[in-house]
Order: sequence, then structure tokens, then C-alpha cells
Amino acid sequence: MEETLGEIGQRIRVCKKCPLHESRTKPVPGEGNPFAKVMLVGQGPGRNEDETGRPFVGAAGVFLDRMLKAVGLKRRELWLTNVTRCLPPGGRLPRAPEIKTCAPFLLDEIRVLRPKIVCPLGNKALSLLLRKPSQIQRLRGTAIPMETHFLFPMLHPAAAIRNPALEEKVMEDFKNLKRFLDSDPVLKPPPGQESLF
Ligand code: SF4
Repeated sequence: MEETLGEIGQRIRVCKKCPLHESRTKPVPGEGNPFAKVMLVGQGPGRNEDETGRPFVGAAGVFLDRMLKAVGLKRRELWLTNVTRCLPPGGRLPRAPEIKTCAPFLLDEIRVLRPKIVCPLGNKALSLLLRKPSQIQRLRGTAIPMETHFLFPMLHPAAAIRNPALEEKVMEDFKNLKRFLDSDPVLKPPPGQESLF
């Protein structure tokens, strides 16, 4: 029987596969609607997420809720998750081996949830999911067809908190996401696998 999102979350809560388990207060599994069409993928927990064990809380979470409301989306319609699940010491960025060790949790969430649209919110999430070094600034707002879903890269809401000049661009990304979702996009089958009927 296929694993559930709750069971993946449980594995994350007890994980000690990389050194980051030593610095965390609480690991942060994904959360949201288990039938979500849209998954938002951040880089990793910040201090508020580390304290609560929940993704996208604190100032970035409040800002996210404001963006969602502005375009007519609700947090409870989405699945919110991260590339890594534990806060590194001193709040430094996660290192490549830590990302590599933690990444299977994200891939498992995508496999079980089967979202139509996966939105990487930063270079680390985008590079992991595209399987090559990639820049959000270059690809934001474009829908990239993958095997089971579309990748839809966007700026992270926290970017606008660090740099208010980016707020307009973050808003633009959320508007484009809503427009793309409402267009009910369909993945084309790979060449040679089209239906004969
Ligand atoms: S960051 Fe990921 S792999 Fe490392 S201990 Fe936390 S849950 Fe496990």
C-alpha cells in the first residue's frame, strides 16, 4: 500500500539522517491539503518554523497569506513544504550534502500528493527539481512541463520582506500562478505515447 503524506511527515519528525538534526528545535514536515493541486516548495525552515514545527509561519507566512488572499487562493487549498526540514546552526544556509540527504522526502511528497503544479520558491528548490543549477530570476513565471506535473518557479514571499522593492514582482508571480491554475493546464504525453483513441 502506498505511503500517506502523514507517514512521510512522521518519518521527517524522527529523522536523524544528516547533522542538521542536532541544531533543530523541531523538524518541519509539509502540511496542507492532501488533495492540493498546487505545492509551494521553500528552501528550508526559518526560526519561526523551527520553533513551531510548521512551514511558512511568522512574517513570511503572514505575507504569503496576504498574497494568496489578493489572488483568491487559500492556504488550505495548497500543500506547503520545503527542500530541507531542519534549521541549520545559526540559521546558515543548508549545505549541498544536507540538501541531497533530505531531498527524498520532497520527492516522496510529490509522488504521493501528485500535484498538478509544483512551485519552487528559490534557486535551491528550483535546481533540485529541475536537476540542474537554475536561477529563479530567469525562469519565474514560466510553466515547465515535467513527467507528472508542471514546475512553476516563483520568488519566495520572504524575498519581499528582505527587500520591499520586490513586493510587486512577488505579487505578479502569485497572479500568474492563479491565472495558470485557472487555465486548467494539461500535460502532453511524451512523444510516442499519445492515445490512439
Ligand atoms: S534536514 Fe532532513 S535529512 Fe537532515 S535531519 Fe532534518 S529531516 Fe533528516
